Amino acid sequence: MKISNLFNSGKTVFSFEVFPPKKTSPIESVYGKLEEISALKPDFISVTYSAGGSGSKSRTCEIATKIKRDFGVESVAHLTCINSTKADIDRNLALFKENGIENILALRGDRVEGVEPQKDFTYASDLCRYIASQGDFDIAGACYPEVHSEATDEVEDIHNLRKKVESGASHLISQLFFDNSVYYRFLERAKIAGVNVPIEAGIMPVTSKSQIERMVSMCGASLPAKFAKIMQKYDTRPEALRDAGIAYAVDQIVDLIAHGVDGIHLYTMNNPYVARKITEAVSSLL
Ligand code: FAD
Repeated sequence: MKISNLFNSGKTVFSFEVFPPKKTSPIESVYGKLEEISALKPDFISVTYSAGGSGSKSRTCEIATKIKRDFGVESVAHLTCINSTKADIDRNLALFKENGIENILALRGDRVEGVEPQKDFTYASDLCRYIASQGDFDIAGACYPEVHSEATDEVEDIHNLRKKVESGASHLISQLFFDNSVYYRFLERAKIAGVNVPIEAGIMPVTSKSQIERMVSMCGASLPAKFAKIMQKYDTRPEALRDAGIAYAVDQIVDLIAHGVDGIHLYTMNNPYVARKITEAVSSLL
């Protein structure tokens, strides 16, 4: 099933993101968790891809296939191009076709220190255009409510986002954010710029102190005072912090749904407990 068709139903699309295990762990080590997560029946599950060549590359397709075939949930395979040649991308596309994967989240990927990027694709839009020319895939792209870290300003970033859509991305998934007002302003910019495909809001439930530190340093999301207060208050009580993080994410999602967003993409961090708690809290609202 093509993911872009989901947005025609009038319902808020509700999807999850999961990731493959490190190459030092057997692939089967995540299957139990992924089965539990799939049992929550999101509209689709996307599977991340390692741009840095950590070894989990081939596992994206394997896991996306497992989720679709064995766990009965439509899947989306992420694919990055920064460190890939055209031949690498061709191999991946062939593998996706062979395994019935119809949906791809086309990404540039982050620069990896000490690794010289390949020359065949410069931006995600180049990859979108190439995938569109290679077969019948549904293509999604990434977007950044707080502006991508390498963009000069929000005008340039939104202009580049429009190019991505013109190159074949039929829906977008956003970077995580903790302040909904930032997201609503981004939606306005996108609309003004003529970005007229469905956009899903990326929500990351923060359930541990180390996770928040890692996430903020990686993606530069701004932290509203309310969020910082909660993190500070439950700093030394892991269970309370987890529950507060879930409550914060639910609060964000309720507000987003009330504002009529196209979809919610939950970064599950492969955590079935957290995914279940949030799904139970919001499923009647979608
Ligand atoms: P692009 O869209 O190419 O944008 C990168 C930068 O280039 C931006 O600053 C943009 O403004 C600029 N730009 C774009 N097009 C042009 C142009 N034509 N001319 C000039 N400038 C341009 N990373 C992974 O490694 N694996 C994953 O699985 C993964 N999944 C992700 C899922 C989501 C939902 C999101 C939001 C991000 C994900 N990332 C993943 C991270 C992503 O790879 C990085 O944020 C990366 O730095 C940018 O990728 P992109 O596809 O957005 O790049």
